Amino acid sequence: MVAAPGHALVTGGAGFLGSHLCELLLRNGFRVSCVDSFATGTATNVDHLREDPRFRLIEHDVTAPFPDVGDPTLVAHLASAASPRDYQRLPIETLHAGALGTMHALEVAERAGARFLLTSTSEVYGDPLEHPQRESYWGNVNPIGPRSVYDEAKRYAEALTMAHLRQRGTDVAIARIFNTYGPRMRADDGRMIPNFITQAIAGAPLTVAGSGTQTRSVCYVDDTVAGLYALVRSTLTGPVNIGNPRELSVRRIAEEIRDLVGSASVIESVPGAVDDPQRRCPDISLARRELGWEPQVTLRDGLRRTVDWFAGHRPDAAA
Ligand code: NAD
Ligand code: UDP
Repeated sequence: MVAAPGHALVTGGAGFLGSHLCELLLRNGFRVSCVDSFATGTATNVDHLREDPRFRLIEHDVTAPFPDVGDPTLVAHLASAASPRDYQRLPIETLHAGALGTMHALEVAERAGARFLLTSTSEVYGDPLEHPQRESYWGNVNPIGPRSVYDEAKRYAEALTMAHLRQRGTDVAIARIFNTYGPRMRADDGRMIPNFITQAIAGAPLTVAGSGTQTRSVCYVDDTVAGLYALVRSTLTGPVNIGNPRELSVRRIAEEIRDLVGSASVIESVPGAVDDPQRRCPDISLARRELGWEPQVTLRDGLRRTVDWFAGHRPDAAA
């Protein structure tokens, strides 16, 4: 449980999710120290926060010990590449962010007596054999495949976080976040939603991988960060699934985006990704019951806001 207002240290705060979490924390009265190496995020994501005297941006790689950051009451650890394209481009860095980065962030939380939030992932379930996925499911991960650098880093990070709780009494919480989308995703991060939106806006073919029958359950970013905030304000350790339980095929998501943009793009089949999870859908009973949280934003509304943002941020769009 963390008292508000306090001092939040947000690692990976200049990334997609991190920048939204920084905003939400400031709105709720926190001072925010945002730590980021800009490996996959950018200072531009938090430019609008820099006028606020309660916000500071610290350039730092979490795989190295932290500089003096003062005494946070909350350490929210988001620093890690997250998109398959990014973590397959940065495999060793991703393993180190999950292992060394999590170790350093936990040590800061332990020293300060702060609550620690690990942003883990639905990828700990791998290509799941159980549907929907409950937190009690142990997962089906290929430990040496191209996705393993991310999946196993997060599984290790979860284990380290639980060891801190058991051995040192650190106040920890683990969120298993499912696919989240919204403004400030990078157009070139390779993920499904930015790809489909930029392709639809450009009138280019929408590249659906494999059969397109594989499923994802996508959650709008405002809902995800509201879930993270509910978790840090609670006494729950978790892990707790944070995601939207509406499960759709990848092809259907492509069609929704094409319709919303009003694009004449065709849907093109491209080779499927190695070890691509075939079904993914969170069971969010625990979050509903213990956090009183569930997603509020419909797919249409969330996609509309995201499409509008991308349309305004094309390289050729007016600033
Ligand atoms: P992102 O790439 O936009 O943000 C990650 C941020 O971490 C970037 O700003 C990057 O520069 C920073 N970073 C990476 N390595 C670092 C290091 N060694 N030191 C300091 N900073 C570093 O990705 P995101 O989608 O915002 O994801 C944020 C977190 O949420 C990640 O931990 C990710 O695993 C988790 N998550 C995200 C999703 C999702 O759908 N977006 C789903 C599950 C989990
Ligand atoms: N995908 C796709 N076309 C793309 C990018 C991704 O069909 O241009 C598929 C990908 O193979 C996966 C799903 O969309 O089945 C979600 O991929 P994403 O990279 O967004 O996230 P993941 O859930 O795999 O981490």
